[in-house]
Amino acid sequence: MNIALIAHDEKKQDMVNFTTAYTSILKKHTLYATGTTGTRINEATGLEIERFQSGPLGGDQQIGAKIATNDMDLVIFFRDPLTAQPHEPDISALMRLCDVYQIPLVTNLGGAEVMIRALDSGLFDWRNITK
Ligand code: PGA
Repeated sequence: MNIALIAHDEKKQDMVNFTTAYTSILKKHTLYATGTTGTRINEATGLEIERFQSGPLGGDQQIGAKIATNDMDLVIFFRDPLTAQPHEPDISALMRLCDVYQIPLVTNLGGAEVMIRALDSGLFDWRNITK
């Protein structure tokens, strides 16, 4: 599966902890991330990740483009709900595209814990039918 990983600055340590805990699952998949998030994950886990631009510089839109072409199967997006983001329109657009194309999206660690186990249990097989 193709998985997008994004974390706002205040949530990047959560993302590092999450990807460290689930490296053995994540390494079976193709990983994409916004720029800084991808660097942090790679440094902590050694996972191979295709990095897009940093979120505020267009990375969310690049991930959105992958969703629009049915090339993304899961979006794990640790949003910071307590800090204003300069690229809020891009964030909204990314989440909107997930809804347009029925792409599973989690926006916090609790959801990600459930989703990663679902992924590893084969519950994403339906995505193969859509391709
Ligand atoms: P970053 O982008 O991974 O480059 O920090 C994430 C974001 O802030 O949207």
